[in-house]
Amino acid sequence: MGLHSGNALLFPQVEDPIGAACEDLKPVLDAALGGLGLTTEQALKLASSALGDLPALCSTASQLRDLGKGRTVTFSPKVFIPLTRMCRDFCGYCTFRQAPDETDQLYMSPEQVLDVARAGQRMGCTEALLTLGERPEQRYPEASQWLSRSGYATTHDYLKRISELILEETSLLPHSNPGTMSRREMEQLRESNPSIGMMLESTSPRLHQMGEPHEFAPSKRPSVRIKTLENAGKLRIPFTTGILIGIGETRTERINSLLAIREMHRRYGHVQEVIVQNFRAKENTAMEDHLDPSTEDLLWTVATSRLILGPGANVQVPPNLSYDNYQICLQAGINDWGGISPVTIDYVNPEAPWPPIIDLQRRTAELGFELRPRLAVYPEFAHTSFGYLSPKVSKKVASMADDEGYVKGGIDGYVNPA
Ligand code: SF4
Repeated sequence: MGLHSGNALLFPQVEDPIGAACEDLKPVLDAALGGLGLTTEQALKLASSALGDLPALCSTASQLRDLGKGRTVTFSPKVFIPLTRMCRDFCGYCTFRQAPDETDQLYMSPEQVLDVARAGQRMGCTEALLTLGERPEQRYPEASQWLSRSGYATTHDYLKRISELILEETSLLPHSNPGTMSRREMEQLRESNPSIGMMLESTSPRLHQMGEPHEFAPSKRPSVRIKTLENAGKLRIPFTTGILIGIGETRTERINSLLAIREMHRRYGHVQEVIVQNFRAKENTAMEDHLDPSTEDLLWTVATSRLILGPGANVQVPPNLSYDNYQICLQAGINDWGGISPVTIDYVNPEAPWPPIIDLQRRTAELGFELRPRLAVYPEFAHTSFGYLSPKVSKKVASMADDEGYVKGGIDGYVNPA
């Protein structure tokens, strides 16, 4: 099928994808390009597409992306701040979580957070990604004691304070990923965060059964995560979510997860970005012998995401999780590379370094796209008049954005540093 690594064209794009698809898929691809959105029945038909249909699927998804996003591809220059790695859950693939006896440091201190944020500031970063485990104080007395000694009742209270510090004392915007959240917690975070994130991962209840990756992860229950997504919508908070693929779910279950995200966005209009994150096996986890999804599987999922979510969606694949041929995802309909850090590692996937921004720009340009830095909030949610941001956040965003809502100054400062 023409898949190979390197910098040349990696995937056969089809000029007439509908003509090239099998009879069953033709009406589905036709409907996707028609712009009305796929029905549930049409979306589910994508599950039975054959490997030979992949070029037609990817080409249609690319056309759809071009219709909605043109040839602009974005990334967010960021620092990754693992505020705490303690977590009340146990997911079968995770090496991020640490029990109190596995770490010298239960929480990063405010000074440590600000040091990392300021290092990012010096490199032109605009986002501080705050990633942390779920409510560790509910499992570990050590976490409760640390919080209480520091003057906080919960990890969320501490996160709120840290977000405020980043907003007020650095040039970065905080973007928090604390897992599931109550309505009240999100209301508080929106005062300092222009956007918040939580991966839906999967709506499959099967993944919670005995021996499955979410058996011991109550926070990953689909109903709880959908509720978080829904409350964010009611609060009009720009929200980043996505699916995790390759953890034992079927194609149909992936499609159902994407349909659930689409439904939330149709109701509330707040989903700013959908990430397609591919599982990578890690040593010393329950899933260390599980196979990573193949490139074809990733491309099928990316194309399916675009076909279901439509031309206006921001669809992201993290380039560091796709080895040396990440640019191939551009040919399946993505328009964003997510957060890229010139300062910190990806603590969730420490074995997978982010590409240098200059490499990202070169490979993106090779396939005919322009790479632009974006803020933690996407342009379509950034302007004050859109009513998504709190007054304090809005003021800072306005000072950082250019006329179109992207990072002021563009890509030049990153690829030609002074
Ligand atoms: S993936 Fe998230 S929720 Fe699951 S164990 Fe790791 S930190 Fe906790």
